[in-house]
Amino acid sequence: MNRRPLIAGNWKMHLTVSEAVRLAQAAAQTCGACPDRDVMVAPAFTALTKVREALKDTSLLVAAQNVAWEREGAYTGEVSPVMLQDIGVHFAIIGHSERRQIFGEDDAMINCRLRGALAGGIQPVLCVGETLEERETGRTISVLEQQMRQDLQGVSADKMHQIVLAYEPVWAIGTGKTATTEQAQEAHAFLRRFLTEEYEKNIADGVRILYGGSVKPENIDNLMAQPDIDGALVGGAALQAESFDRIIRFR
Ligand code: PEP
Repeated sequence: MNRRPLIAGNWKMHLTVSEAVRLAQAAAQTCGACPDRDVMVAPAFTALTKVREALKDTSLLVAAQNVAWEREGAYTGEVSPVMLQDIGVHFAIIGHSERRQIFGEDDAMINCRLRGALAGGIQPVLCVGETLEERETGRTISVLEQQMRQDLQGVSADKMHQIVLAYEPVWAIGTGKTATTEQAQEAHAFLRRFLTEEYEKNIADGVRILYGGSVKPENIDNLMAQPDIDGALVGGAALQAESFDRIIRFR
Protein backbone atom coordinates (compact mmCIF):
# COMPACT_ATOMS: atom_id res chain seq x y z
CA MET A 1 0.00 0.00 0.00
CA ASN A 2 1.13 3.53 -0.71
CA ARG A 3 1.39 5.35 2.58
CA ARG A 4 1.87 9.11 2.47
CA PRO A 5 5.20 9.92 4.16
CA LEU A 6 5.14 12.07 7.29
CA ILE A 7 8.10 14.02 8.66
CA ALA A 8 7.44 15.34 12.16
CA GLY A 9 9.60 17.66 14.24
CA ASN A 10 9.42 17.36 18.03
CA TRP A 11 10.73 20.61 19.46
CA LYS A 12 10.58 19.38 23.07
CA MET A 13 11.22 22.14 25.66
CA HIS A 14 12.93 24.48 23.21
CA LEU A 15 12.21 27.82 21.52
CA THR A 16 10.42 31.00 22.54
CA VAL A 17 7.16 31.82 20.78
CA SER A 18 8.81 34.05 18.17
CA GLU A 19 11.57 31.49 17.49
CA ALA A 20 8.95 28.78 17.11
CA VAL A 21 6.89 30.84 14.67
CA ARG A 22 9.99 31.57 12.56
CA LEU A 23 11.02 27.93 12.43
CA ALA A 24 7.48 26.83 11.64
CA GLN A 25 7.29 29.31 8.77
CA ALA A 26 10.50 27.89 7.32
CA ALA A 27 9.14 24.34 7.60
CA ALA A 28 5.85 25.44 6.00
CA GLN A 29 7.76 26.80 3.04
CA THR A 30 9.57 23.51 2.50
CA CYS A 31 6.33 21.64 3.04
CA GLY A 32 4.67 23.72 0.32
CA ALA A 33 7.43 22.67 -2.08
CA CYS A 34 6.93 18.95 -1.31
CA PRO A 35 3.26 18.19 -1.99
CA ASP A 36 3.73 14.40 -1.89
CA ARG A 37 4.46 14.28 1.85
CA ASP A 38 3.06 15.53 5.15
CA VAL A 39 5.09 17.67 7.53
CA MET A 40 4.28 18.25 11.19
CA VAL A 41 5.79 20.31 13.99
CA ALA A 42 5.21 19.87 17.71
CA PRO A 43 5.98 23.09 19.59
CA ALA A 44 5.78 23.57 23.36
CA PHE A 45 2.28 24.39 24.63
CA THR A 46 3.19 28.08 25.02
CA ALA A 47 3.84 28.43 21.28
CA LEU A 48 0.98 26.32 19.95
CA THR A 49 -1.57 29.11 19.46
CA LYS A 50 0.77 31.48 17.66
CA VAL A 51 2.30 28.75 15.51
CA ARG A 52 -1.18 27.54 14.57
CA GLU A 53 -2.23 31.09 13.65
CA ALA A 54 0.92 31.71 11.62
CA LEU A 55 0.37 28.49 9.66
CA LYS A 56 -3.33 28.65 9.01
CA ASP A 57 -2.94 29.11 5.26
CA THR A 58 -0.31 26.38 4.89
CA SER A 59 -0.48 22.59 4.84
CA LEU A 60 1.96 22.16 7.75
CA LEU A 61 0.41 20.06 10.54
CA VAL A 62 0.72 21.10 14.17
CA ALA A 63 0.82 18.72 17.12
CA ALA A 64 0.97 19.10 20.89
CA GLN A 65 3.66 17.16 22.75
CA ASN A 66 1.16 15.50 25.06
CA VAL A 67 -2.56 15.59 25.91
CA ALA A 68 -4.73 14.80 28.93
CA TRP A 69 -7.53 12.25 28.86
CA GLU A 70 -10.34 14.27 30.44
CA ARG A 71 -12.18 17.21 28.90
CA GLU A 72 -11.60 19.40 31.97
CA GLY A 73 -11.12 19.20 35.71
CA ALA A 74 -8.63 19.27 38.55
CA TYR A 75 -5.53 18.17 36.59
CA THR A 76 -2.89 20.80 37.33
CA GLY A 77 -0.37 21.13 34.55
CA GLU A 78 -2.39 19.26 31.93
CA VAL A 79 -4.00 20.36 28.65
CA SER A 80 -7.14 18.64 27.39
CA PRO A 81 -8.25 17.53 23.91
CA VAL A 82 -10.98 20.20 24.01
CA MET A 83 -8.37 22.89 24.67
CA LEU A 84 -6.28 21.70 21.73
CA GLN A 85 -9.32 21.59 19.46
CA ASP A 86 -10.14 25.12 20.58
CA ILE A 87 -6.87 26.43 19.10
CA GLY A 88 -7.10 24.29 15.96
CA VAL A 89 -4.60 21.61 16.97
CA HIS A 90 -5.70 18.11 16.01
CA PHE A 91 -2.62 15.96 16.76
CA ALA A 92 -0.67 15.06 19.89
CA ILE A 93 2.45 13.02 20.59
CA ILE A 94 1.66 10.44 23.28
CA GLY A 95 4.02 8.10 25.15
CA HIS A 96 7.29 9.77 24.17
CA SER A 97 10.14 8.04 25.99
CA GLU A 98 10.97 11.27 27.85
CA ARG A 99 7.44 11.23 29.29
CA ARG A 100 7.86 7.57 30.19
CA GLN A 101 11.36 7.82 31.66
CA ILE A 102 11.55 11.29 33.24
CA PHE A 103 7.91 11.78 34.23
CA GLY A 104 7.02 8.19 35.04
CA GLU A 105 4.17 7.77 32.55
CA ASP A 106 3.38 4.08 32.28
CA ASP A 107 1.49 2.14 29.63
CA ALA A 108 -1.78 2.37 31.58
CA MET A 109 -1.58 6.18 31.60
CA ILE A 110 -0.50 6.27 27.97
CA ASN A 111 -3.52 4.13 27.08
CA CYS A 112 -5.74 6.61 28.98
CA ARG A 113 -4.23 9.54 27.12
CA LEU A 114 -4.56 7.77 23.79
CA ARG A 115 -8.21 6.87 24.28
CA GLY A 116 -9.01 10.32 25.66
CA ALA A 117 -7.34 11.91 22.66
CA LEU A 118 -9.29 9.77 20.19
CA ALA A 119 -12.56 10.46 22.01
CA GLY A 120 -11.78 14.18 21.88
CA GLY A 121 -10.95 14.24 18.18
CA ILE A 122 -7.17 14.41 18.57
CA GLN A 123 -5.06 12.10 16.42
CA PRO A 124 -2.26 10.48 18.46
CA VAL A 125 1.33 9.99 17.42
CA LEU A 126 2.03 7.03 19.71
CA CYS A 127 5.70 6.41 20.57
CA VAL A 128 7.05 3.01 21.54
CA GLY A 129 10.61 1.72 21.83
CA GLU A 130 13.05 -0.31 23.88
CA THR A 131 15.90 0.78 26.15
CA LEU A 132 19.51 -0.21 25.50
CA GLU A 133 19.38 -2.81 28.25
CA GLU A 134 16.22 -4.33 26.77
CA ARG A 135 17.86 -4.51 23.34
CA GLU A 136 21.09 -5.98 24.66
CA THR A 137 19.21 -8.68 26.54
CA GLY A 138 17.27 -9.68 23.44
CA ARG A 139 13.93 -8.29 24.59
CA THR A 140 13.25 -5.67 21.90
CA ILE A 141 10.34 -7.46 20.28
CA SER A 142 8.71 -8.55 23.54
CA VAL A 143 8.94 -5.00 24.93
CA LEU A 144 7.41 -3.56 21.76
CA GLU A 145 4.65 -6.15 21.88
CA GLN A 146 3.85 -5.36 25.51
CA GLN A 147 3.79 -1.61 24.88
CA MET A 148 1.57 -2.00 21.83
CA ARG A 149 -0.83 -4.35 23.62
CA GLN A 150 -1.20 -2.10 26.65
CA ASP A 151 -1.09 1.29 24.92
CA LEU A 152 -3.71 0.25 22.34
CA GLN A 153 -5.99 -1.61 24.72
CA GLY A 154 -9.62 -0.85 23.89
CA VAL A 155 -8.79 0.93 20.62
CA SER A 156 -11.18 -0.33 17.97
CA ALA A 157 -10.26 -0.99 14.36
CA ASP A 158 -12.24 2.02 13.17
CA LYS A 159 -10.07 4.30 15.37
CA MET A 160 -6.76 2.66 14.54
CA HIS A 161 -6.45 4.45 11.21
CA GLN A 162 -6.34 7.78 13.07
CA ILE A 163 -3.17 6.78 14.90
CA VAL A 164 0.39 7.36 13.72
CA LEU A 165 2.99 5.11 15.34
CA ALA A 166 6.57 6.09 16.06
CA TYR A 167 9.24 3.50 16.75
CA GLU A 168 11.83 5.28 18.87
CA PRO A 169 14.57 3.13 20.39
CA VAL A 170 15.32 4.97 23.65
CA TRP A 171 19.06 4.47 23.23
CA ALA A 172 18.99 6.37 19.93
CA ILE A 173 17.08 9.46 21.12
CA GLY A 174 19.29 12.51 21.44
CA THR A 175 22.40 10.35 21.62
CA GLY A 176 23.69 10.63 18.06
CA LYS A 177 23.35 6.84 17.76
CA THR A 178 20.89 5.77 15.10
CA ALA A 179 19.46 2.31 14.74
CA THR A 180 20.82 0.67 11.62
CA THR A 181 18.35 0.59 8.78
CA GLU A 182 18.05 -3.18 9.35
CA GLN A 183 17.30 -2.76 13.07
CA ALA A 184 14.71 -0.08 12.33
CA GLN A 185 13.07 -2.04 9.50
CA GLU A 186 12.90 -5.18 11.66
CA ALA A 187 11.10 -3.31 14.45
CA HIS A 188 8.75 -1.57 12.01
CA ALA A 189 7.91 -4.85 10.31
CA PHE A 190 7.13 -6.36 13.71
CA LEU A 191 4.80 -3.43 14.57
CA ARG A 192 2.96 -3.88 11.29
CA ARG A 193 2.67 -7.63 11.87
CA PHE A 194 1.25 -6.92 15.31
CA LEU A 195 -1.39 -4.64 13.78
CA THR A 196 -2.24 -7.29 11.18
CA GLU A 197 -2.76 -9.88 13.88
CA GLU A 198 -4.67 -7.63 16.30
CA TYR A 199 -6.73 -5.77 13.69
CA GLU A 200 -6.53 -6.71 10.03
CA LYS A 201 -4.13 -6.41 7.13
CA ASN A 202 -5.97 -3.52 5.59
CA ILE A 203 -5.58 -1.46 8.75
CA ALA A 204 -1.97 -2.51 9.33
CA ASP A 205 -1.12 -1.54 5.76
CA GLY A 206 -2.62 1.92 6.22
CA VAL A 207 -0.99 2.93 9.52
CA ARG A 208 2.06 5.15 9.17
CA ILE A 209 5.03 4.09 11.27
CA LEU A 210 7.70 6.75 11.82
CA TYR A 211 11.26 6.09 12.89
CA GLY A 212 12.72 8.34 15.60
CA GLY A 213 16.20 8.45 17.11
CA SER A 214 18.95 10.80 15.92
CA VAL A 215 17.49 11.22 12.43
CA LYS A 216 19.69 13.61 10.46
CA PRO A 217 20.16 14.81 6.88
CA GLU A 218 22.87 12.14 6.52
CA ASN A 219 20.70 9.14 7.40
CA ILE A 220 17.16 10.08 6.37
CA ASP A 221 17.42 8.82 2.77
CA ASN A 222 18.49 5.31 3.79
CA LEU A 223 15.86 5.10 6.50
CA MET A 224 13.10 6.20 4.14
CA ALA A 225 14.15 3.55 1.62
CA GLN A 226 12.96 0.81 4.01
CA PRO A 227 9.58 -0.67 3.10
CA ASP A 228 7.99 -0.26 6.54
CA ILE A 229 9.44 3.16 7.43
CA ASP A 230 6.87 5.78 6.49
CA GLY A 231 8.45 8.86 7.97
CA ALA A 232 10.48 10.24 10.84
CA LEU A 233 10.00 11.81 14.23
CA VAL A 234 12.90 14.23 14.53
CA GLY A 235 14.16 15.94 17.70
CA GLY A 236 17.49 17.77 17.59
CA ALA A 237 17.75 18.09 13.81
CA ALA A 238 14.26 19.65 13.65
CA LEU A 239 15.49 22.67 15.63
CA GLN A 240 17.52 24.01 12.70
CA ALA A 241 15.63 25.16 9.62
CA GLU A 242 18.37 23.92 7.30
CA SER A 243 18.65 20.37 8.61
CA PHE A 244 14.87 19.97 8.94
CA ASP A 245 14.50 21.22 5.36
CA ARG A 246 16.86 18.51 4.09
CA ILE A 247 15.10 15.83 6.13
CA ILE A 248 11.71 16.89 4.73
CA ARG A 249 13.20 16.72 1.24
CA PHE A 250 14.39 13.12 1.72
CA ARG A 251 14.99 11.25 -1.49
C1 PEP B 1 12.60 12.65 19.61
O1 PEP B 1 12.57 13.65 20.30
O2 PEP B 1 11.58 11.98 19.46
C2 PEP B 1 13.87 12.27 18.98
C3 PEP B 1 13.91 11.21 18.23
O3 PEP B 1 14.97 13.07 19.23
P1 PEP B 1 16.38 13.06 18.41
O4 PEP B 1 16.03 13.15 16.96
O5 PEP B 1 17.10 14.28 18.91
O6 PEP B 1 17.07 11.79 18.73
